[in-house]
Amino acid sequence: DLEKLKIELASSIREFPDFPQKGILFKDIMPIFQKPQLVTNMCVAIAAHAVAEIPVPVDAVAGLEARGFLFGPQIAAILNVPFIPIRKQGKLPGKTVRATYVKEYGEDVVEVQSDALKPGAKVMIVDDLLATGGTMKAAIEVIQKAGGDVAEAFCIIELTALKGRDVLLDTVPVFTLLSF
Ligand code: AMP
Repeated sequence: DLEKLKIELASSIREFPDFPQKGILFKDIMPIFQKPQLVTNMCVAIAAHAVAEIPVPVDAVAGLEARGFLFGPQIAAILNVPFIPIRKQGKLPGKTVRATYVKEYGEDVVEVQSDALKPGAKVMIVDDLLATGGTMKAAIEVIQKAGGDVAEAFCIIELTALKGRDVLLDTVPVFTLLSF
């Protein structure tokens, strides 16, 4: 069941203080991927959540580079819908749409291929972790620019003290599995 899964996921996340810079407590999800059955159970549970709790059928799963690429395609495959990569600037060929967001040091840009989505497609965006919400906000913007309609912003982990959820809730529903 979901509670048992959450306990196993939580015990498979490692913390690294002061990475990648001082003051950040980095949550490392890679140990989850040492356990293939846990990965399968997690992706099945996320897909089941999408079917049961997102009020519209999801037409596509969009994953954020890089850790959203680790499990987004598996969720999309279970839901039998396309996977759409949201990448850092300059990585995707052809015509793209972009959104800019501010990080601690300077700006970052995310892109999606212009023809990636059917107009009005209902999109579930997935990433590993919600901190300030800046990254997810840009992801929502770029999906909307590509013609999509964001049905949910999903993260495995939420750092509640940073209130990223508050930044997003005006625009889209937010769902996370584990809160710290
Ligand atoms: P933010 O834009 O502040 O919500 O940051 C979220 C993005 O940065 C996600 O793509 C995360 O992978 C990464 N990130 C931010 N803080 C952490 C952290 N403490 N541990 C691991 N990843 C993080």
